[in-house]
Parts: sequence; structure tokens; C-alpha cells
Amino acid sequence: MIIVLLGPPGAGKGTQAKVLAQKLGLPHISTGDLLRQNVAKGTDLGTQAKDFMNKGLLVPDELVTRMLDERFGLADAKNGFILDGYPRNINQAEVLDSLLEKRNTSVSMVVYLDTSEKVVIQRLSGRLVCRLCGANFHLINMPPRVKMICDECGGELYQRTDDKEETIRKRLQVYLEETSGLIKYYGDKRNLHRLSADGDKDIVLQEILTLAKEYNDNPKV
Ligand code: AMP
Repeated sequence: MIIVLLGPPGAGKGTQAKVLAQKLGLPHISTGDLLRQNVAKGTDLGTQAKDFMNKGLLVPDELVTRMLDERFGLADAKNGFILDGYPRNINQAEVLDSLLEKRNTSVSMVVYLDTSEKVVIQRLSGRLVCRLCGANFHLINMPPRVKMICDECGGELYQRTDDKEETIRKRLQVYLEETSGLIKYYGDKRNLHRLSADGDKDIVLQEILTLAKEYNDNPKV
């Protein structure tokens, strides 16, 4: 099963994808995480992507496509995955269809996490991320038990460089201009599910799991 999570930055795509991945036994593929790993390792791709990311802009499609194609080719992705942060524009959605077609598969369902701008800014400006396991916390809504230490693995927590207010606003603008058009794109293909994601993350998770079960019970090809 291939699930695409859509929604603005701060909608909770990463948080949901991590738990879904565990519950469904599928890998979580986040283009943002893959890019950040490349930046941290100082690869060619990381060097090319870094400035775009720090400005809140999209990394050029061809760089992301190559990275994603390699990731899809790894053994753990052969039964499907949870895709978070991709596609981000219509071109990427078309690329995704062709990358999957070449592997004789397709998107099973798209879940749109509908989130208000107020909630997005509040979540992102307090977000803390674990350097080791990627778990997310929040300075106010979900503080770690020990200051700046991950509850899950004891790793160090940090604030992403693109989670400062000015960059958050830019990322939201990019989302509105480039990514929100995907709601219509997938709506037209009839496999889009819209969930309200302003509230409790556990309720959203249950809703997605219900959709996944319905799909598994009655897969649409
Ligand atoms: P995210 O972790 O999904 O919020 O992504 C962080 C940043 O990585 C974005 O602001 C972009 O600069 C870059 N990025 C992540 N995914 C993509 C993508 N599919 N296409 C282009 N840039 C991306």
C-alpha cells in the first residue's frame, strides 16, 4: 500500500507517518528527512539543496526525483510506503505516477491533513526534533520530560533552521502557490481523503488507520 500524506508544513505529516509506518509495517519516506540527511553528510545533493531549504523554497524537482527513485528501489519499499513531503507540485505528482508505474504500482490513497494557518505557525514555531530518531516534540504543547532530550531515545533535540517565523511564512506561501493545487489533482483522481488536522493527533491517526483498513479490505486498483 502506498499512502501519500498531503498538507501544509506543520500539518503533522511527519508525526503521523512515523506512527503509521510502525502500525502498518511500511517504511516512512520523507523527502525533507532525506534532504536533511544529505545536508548533514555534506553530499553533493545536500550542498545543492541547502540554500533552497534555508530559504523555505522547494529544492529543484530533478534533484528530488533522483533521490526518491533511489529510495523507492531499496528492498524495504517493495510492499509500499508512507510518503511524506512529496509530491509538492503537479510536476512531482506526475513524476511520482511514472516512477510507480515503472515499478508496476500506483498510489493507493492520498490523505490531506487540512490545517489552519494559525495552528501551523503555532506548531512549527515551537517544534523540537530529535537528532537521532527524528521524533517531534513541542516547547509548549508536548514538551520532552527532560529539557532538550528525546523521550524516545535520549537523543538531543533541536529546532530546525527553517522553523523560524520568516521562513515558516515563506514555506506557507510556497505551499499555497505550488502544493495546494494537488488537492484538486488528487480529488479529480478520486483517491483523496480530507481530514481535519487542527485537533488531537491520536484522533487523526485513528481516522487514517480506518481509511487504510477500508482500503486493505477493498483495494482499488
Ligand atoms: P519538510 O521536512 O517536508 O518540511 O521539508 C523541508 C524542506 O525540504 C522544504 O522546505 C524544501 O526546501 C525541501 N523539500 C522537502 N521535500 C521536497 C520536495 N518534494 N520538493 C522540493 N523540495 C522539498
